[in-house]
Amino acid sequence: MNDFGSGHPFGGQGSSASEIPPMYRPAASAGGPDRVSDPIPFRRPGSDQDPRAELQEALRGEIQEELHAADPVVPDDTAVVAEPVIGPTGRPMPHLPEPRPIGIHGNARVISMCNQKGGVGKTTTTINLGAALAEFGRKVLLVDFDPQGSLSVGLGLNPHDMELSIYNLLMQRDVTIDEVIVPTGVPGMDLLPSNIDLSAAEVQLVHEVAREQTLQRVLQPAIADYDVILIDCQPSLGLLTVNALTASDGVIVPLECEYFALRGVALLKTTIDKVTERLNPKLHIDGVLGTMYDGRTLHGREVMERLVQAWGDTVFHTVIRRTVKFSDSTVAGEPITSYASSSAGADSYRQLAKEVLARCLEE
Ligand code: ADP
Ligand code: MG
Repeated sequence: MNDFGSGHPFGGQGSSASEIPPMYRPAASAGGPDRVSDPIPFRRPGSDQDPRAELQEALRGEIQEELHAADPVVPDDTAVVAEPVIGPTGRPMPHLPEPRPIGIHGNARVISMCNQKGGVGKTTTTINLGAALAEFGRKVLLVDFDPQGSLSVGLGLNPHDMELSIYNLLMQRDVTIDEVIVPTGVPGMDLLPSNIDLSAAEVQLVHEVAREQTLQRVLQPAIADYDVILIDCQPSLGLLTVNALTASDGVIVPLECEYFALRGVALLKTTIDKVTERLNPKLHIDGVLGTMYDGRTLHGREVMERLVQAWGDTVFHTVIRRTVKFSDSTVAGEPITSYASSSAGADSYRQLAKEVLARCLEE
C-alpha cells in the first residue's frame, strides 16, 4: 500500500529549485574554504587583468549557460534530476504510449463497469472509453446491462423502438447475438441494446440452470470478433451484475470523487471477491477510476488521497474531471469524443483508453 509520507504533494515538503546545488563550484583552494555555502570569489573591475580577457571570459560563461539551458540532462555529478510530473492522483504520471494500430482483431477482453451506486459515471465511462478505444482502431462491443437502458439512449436509440434487446438474447435460445447487435454512430463500435424488459430477466433467470453464467454463454460467439467488450452494469449487486462479473476478465470501478462515494466500496469488493472465488477465478480488478473530480476543492483532493491510500496502484492515473459537457453529449446521443472532440473530457477518456490498453490489453 502506498504510504504518502513526507514526499506527498498535499502533506510533504517536496524538493524545490532552491535546494538544488549550484552546477559549478569554485575549485577548492589549497587550505581555503570549500563549503557550498561559501561565496564564489569574483574579480572586481579595474583589477590588473586585461579587460579584453575578462570580456571573453564573460562571453564564454554566457555561451555555456545557453548550452546548458538547451540541454535537459546536466552533465555533472550534482545534476538536477528532472522531477516527474505529479498527476492528479498525487503519484508521478507514467508515460502512456500512443496505441499502435492492430491488424488482426479478436479474442476480446471483457470488462465490466461496476459500482452498485448510481450516478457515478458507469454509463458515461462505457460510452466514452469505448469510443476512445474505437478511435485507436480497436473493435469495441458495448453491452447495455442496465434495464434503464441509459447506454442505449445515450447512443441515440429509442428504448420503445427496439425489435430485439439483450433480454431476448438471454431468454430465447433461438435468438443469436448477431441479430441483436446494432451499429452505433462511432465507426468500429457496436452495441447490444437493452430496455426495461431486462428487469424481467433478473426474475426469470433465478429459475435457470447455471443462472450466473447466462451472459457469459450468450457473449461467447462475439469474443472472436472484437478486441474489447465493455459491460455497463446496473446500480445493484444483484443477479445481473453477478452475471456481468462472471462473464468478465476485468472490472473497472468508477467512483465519484465525493466522500460518500467511498462508502459501500467494501461491499462491492466483497462481491467481486466472491465471484472470483466461486464463479470466475480469472476476474481481475483492472482499475478504480476517479470521476467527477474537482481538483480546485480541498475536498476533491482529499477524497483522491483517500482513494489512493485505500486502493494503491489500482487507481488509474487518469482522472475524469467534472464538466457539464458530459450531460450535453448524453442529450445529443453521442460520445463526448465526437460531440466535443477537442474538449478536456474527450481527452481524458482518450488518456484512459491509453492507460487501459497499456495496463490490461496489450501487456
Ligand atoms: P451511472 O451510469 O453510474 O449511473 P452516469 O454515467 O449515467 O452514471 O452519470 C450520471 C450523470 O452524471 C449523468 O447525467 C452524466 O451525464 C453525468 N456525468 C458523468 N460523468 C460526469 C463528469 N465527469 N462530469 C460531470 N457530469 C458527469
Ligand atoms: Mg448507468
